[in-house]
Amino acid sequence: MPQRLIQLNRSGPRADAAVQVKPVLPVTRRAFIETYGCQMNIGDSEIMAASLVDQGYVTVDSPEMADVIVVNTCAIRENAERRVIGRIGHLQQYREHNPHLVLAVTGCMAQRLGEELLGTSSGVDLIAGPDAYRGLGRLVDDIRSGDQTRGQALLAFDADENYEGLAAVRREGVAAWVTVQRGCNHRCTFCIVPYVRGPEKNRDPLAIVSEVRDAVRDGYTEVSLLGQTVNSYRHGSVGFAELLRKVARVDGIRRVRFTSPHPNDVDDSLIEVMAEESTVCAQLHLPVQSGSDRILRRMVRRYTVEKFLDTVKRVRDSIPDVALSTDVIVGFPGETESDFAATLELMRRVRFDDAYMYRYSLRDGTPATRLPAEDFIDAATSGRRLESLIALHRLIQREIQESEIGAVREVLIERVARSPGDVLGRTESNKVVAFPGGPDQIGTYANVRLLSTTGATFRGERSA
Ligand code: SF4
Repeated sequence: MPQRLIQLNRSGPRADAAVQVKPVLPVTRRAFIETYGCQMNIGDSEIMAASLVDQGYVTVDSPEMADVIVVNTCAIRENAERRVIGRIGHLQQYREHNPHLVLAVTGCMAQRLGEELLGTSSGVDLIAGPDAYRGLGRLVDDIRSGDQTRGQALLAFDADENYEGLAAVRREGVAAWVTVQRGCNHRCTFCIVPYVRGPEKNRDPLAIVSEVRDAVRDGYTEVSLLGQTVNSYRHGSVGFAELLRKVARVDGIRRVRFTSPHPNDVDDSLIEVMAEESTVCAQLHLPVQSGSDRILRRMVRRYTVEKFLDTVKRVRDSIPDVALSTDVIVGFPGETESDFAATLELMRRVRFDDAYMYRYSLRDGTPATRLPAEDFIDAATSGRRLESLIALHRLIQREIQESEIGAVREVLIERVARSPGDVLGRTESNKVVAFPGGPDQIGTYANVRLLSTTGATFRGERSA
């Protein structure tokens, strides 16, 4: 479609150049946002989309035709960063047809690497950290029109920036991600997050509930509340349990989830709300990281195995059908064979429904870099430990899944499956089920009988 052209006329740092003829920007500008990493980043990409849409951009599904490409990055592991560096190189090809293209790198990796990412050979025009997304659309246009030079870095932390008033532009999925908290006050020694996202900031509960109402109005029936340690949320007198209850009672909501909680903040009031509110899913992510007290101390996780197991017991006593998931790091510096055996033992005792398991990845700038060099575990050892942990978890997971065969579960249909004629959806306990269906059913609920399992997912059929 032909595009009308307008002359942007705005003051700014380069207003003295207004006598020069500036490039004109098309009315319809296209933004492509590619997201890496955790759910917080999905929420942040929706905020960036809002900033770009406010500036007149439409979001598109591929980079070919885009006027701005935003790569929203993750810094949690070295691998994730390497992938993004490769991807940035690949995206340069789109400049050939569009010399005014702006390539922006945002998120945790942009914050961590800072101006290193702006080297002349990188091809990156703009970097923005997690507190700098509000002005993204304006800055992209300023670069495109010549009001600002390429090579901008927006990395300052802003203790007051919670993106209120910027309505997330949701394009993906049947669940709405609603960020309730940004940043983290913990200092787990392996984790880069507090250094790239800054200290914890919590949004006003009224604004959160209003955003949930808006999401319902837009057709969402499931929301996931997001925060780095979401259950440490507190705003004035409102703690996380109370917030969760308010959200659970919003008219039209059928499912509420939250991620990622810290085990220490799973208090009785939270468990009570989870047990009492029918819309809060019987599902809890409890990142344990290690089953050894010695390693937990080194990680500064601030709980012991005993305390963690007590939390699991309190949750299961009140919500017997709760599905638990976890994160585990193997090969943390100083982890001995007996520390690792303790992790395996913990996995056998808790029997998590799901687990995200990783080898320790050294992150510059984290406290763990100061541990003695001789404590670092070689790749072969940590690789072997990871393999045996995964094997154990898969065994347990399959047993749990097989015990559910024959049950009927309510499934929210998320998308078309790879196998023709099938759709994929999730149960209340966050388990994935494939069953016959079509794209017109996405976003609807179905009762599905679980017929078989691969170990990780189910196959099912519609039931009355
Ligand atoms: S609680 Fe620990 S692991 Fe989680 S984001 Fe904060 S520092 Fe990182």
